[in-house]
Amino acid sequence: MVAFFGLYVHFPFCLTKCPYCDFNSFVAPDIPHARYADATLREIESRLPDFDGTPATLYFGGGTPGLWAPLEIKRIVDFARSLGLSHDAEITVEANPGALETPSLEAIRDAGANRISFGCQSFNDRHLATLGRRHDAREAHEAPRKARDAGFDNLSLDLIFGIPAQTVDEWRTDLDKAIAFAPEHLSLYSLSLEPEVPMAKEARAGRLTLLEDAFHNEMFNVARRTTRAAGYRHYEISNYAKPGREAVHNSLYWSGAPILAVGAGASGFEVRRHRYSNIKGPEAYMQRAIAGERPESFRESIDEAMRMREAIMTGLRRIDGIDLADFERRFAVRLSERYAEPIRRLVACGLVTIEDGALRLTDSGLFVMNSVLVEFF
Ligand code: SF4
Repeated sequence: MVAFFGLYVHFPFCLTKCPYCDFNSFVAPDIPHARYADATLREIESRLPDFDGTPATLYFGGGTPGLWAPLEIKRIVDFARSLGLSHDAEITVEANPGALETPSLEAIRDAGANRISFGCQSFNDRHLATLGRRHDAREAHEAPRKARDAGFDNLSLDLIFGIPAQTVDEWRTDLDKAIAFAPEHLSLYSLSLEPEVPMAKEARAGRLTLLEDAFHNEMFNVARRTTRAAGYRHYEISNYAKPGREAVHNSLYWSGAPILAVGAGASGFEVRRHRYSNIKGPEAYMQRAIAGERPESFRESIDEAMRMREAIMTGLRRIDGIDLADFERRFAVRLSERYAEPIRRLVACGLVTIEDGALRLTDSGLFVMNSVLVEFF
């Protein structure tokens, strides 16, 4: 069997901090481009003994990796190629619209990236302001065009729905605008706020009114209908793709493949069943990684029961659901027998279904995925 893993590089720097964001991202007056690349390269090297085979994909996530000097991105791409990353492998860079946010798309393309994922979030100035984004609607419109001009033939756009004061019609307009660029991939996220982010605090203080669940659900339905009519396949709870353009790296993650993740705050999953998270602060991370020390804040071994739960969690996020034969092959146990009682209850409530050899969420189940998952844990 050919062994492979996904390679993830976290770039934790942003120009400003958006008030809804709980990603590991920091505003730095001077981004240490070369030193941060030195640290991530060193970390990749030091983690290789814990991974078998070659990288199948490379993903630069953030933060805003579109800000990273393309020369440094190229150093990492070249190193990944020296480890066996093939020339047609998916190499994604997340970027934000705006000339300051993404200085040179051509240079990112020349560095080896063949897929760009733009955090447009909305094409509406009012909603972009609510989200505290640096870019405006004009820049959100320019970004996909510039990506095409730079030669990217694999383009993904991120949009957020359920923004305070957003109407269903405005959401439909955002979707139509995104689809007009014919991106190969769309990630459509419902705005959900961790309790400690500034927008959540504003809402608790009564200075911001969040949309009710019914609006989120209606917008989710509009997203599913609109994308389907435009030829996209809804393949994961938040992701939609033209045929054959599903995100390969994310699909590796959802299928439980090993992920060699490096960078401040990155979380990875080793082939020998350990998972780890790195320390979050970029300076402490760089010092430890460059010194050849493991820059970790967390490590645990994953037993069979945990792996099974993760397979259920990621499997139910996928619209095709959990392939029952594959589950039995991986865990030597029948899912429908091991979880017979919760499955029976969930089927009776119309939240999951077993069809064509797969356990999947029904349309109603998609709206209450977290409550469904609780039944298995
Ligand atoms: S640009 Fe993205 S990562 Fe950076 S603060 Fe905003 S949402 Fe967070």
